[in-house]
Amino acid sequence: MDDFLEPRRRMVESQLVARGITDERVLAAMGKVPRHRFTAPGYSDMAYSDMALPSSEEQTVSQPYMVAIMTELLALKGDERVLEVGTGSGYQTAVLAELAGEVYTIEYRPNLAAEAKRRLEGLGYGNIRFMTGDGSRGWPEQAPYHGILVTAGAPDVPPPLVEQLDEGGVIVIPVGQRQSQRLLKIGKRGGRLIREYHIFCVFVPLLGDYGWPDAQK
Ligand code: SAM
Repeated sequence: MDDFLEPRRRMVESQLVARGITDERVLAAMGKVPRHRFTAPGYSDMAYSDMALPSSEEQTVSQPYMVAIMTELLALKGDERVLEVGTGSGYQTAVLAELAGEVYTIEYRPNLAAEAKRRLEGLGYGNIRFMTGDGSRGWPEQAPYHGILVTAGAPDVPPPLVEQLDEGGVIVIPVGQRQSQRLLKIGKRGGRLIREYHIFCVFVPLLGDYGWPDAQK
């Protein structure tokens, strides 16, 4: 018996459907993944509220709507290889694992990476591969990817991610200033890049080679 089934159903209706998320597969995945298992201790009662919540090490579990819109922009059909940069709590990773064939996820902070791996394996996800390190360089050994999702704010799109994107694939990444960014969708078609800007957002800074040089590590 899942005590959070009803709050999760309300979250999908009032935060996602009401704001224009229409991809039925995304809505179903978000109606299934138990967000209350990803928040820091003491926050599970707020797990289905309309906000980012603390995870460990001063990082955040992304707001449900942000997870939904980023995932919808990837337009996954079910058999894709997806790279995620910034595992964090693993909440977004779980949503991707529901919707893609294989998910490759990279987290910079070793403790967060270990915690997310334990949590996601405990929930029974068998299609996720984990790496600890600088995801701004991507994971070239497993490329190309049909979808690449970055869940930290970047000054610009890291070139290695563009190189590792498959023809017909999509990158979704928050780019802009340290304190505020805009979601950018980049599609690769016929070797050309098509850029589309979406909503404004605020993410923790991307670290590593193509992140913010002065960001706290
Ligand atoms: N989507 C995640 C969730 O719902 O829990 C939230 C991710 S949090 C906003 C961003 C994460 O990106 C943090 O855990 C941070 O440590 C990680 N991060 C920042 N720079 C990174 C990098 N270069 N490589 C991998 N992870 C990075």
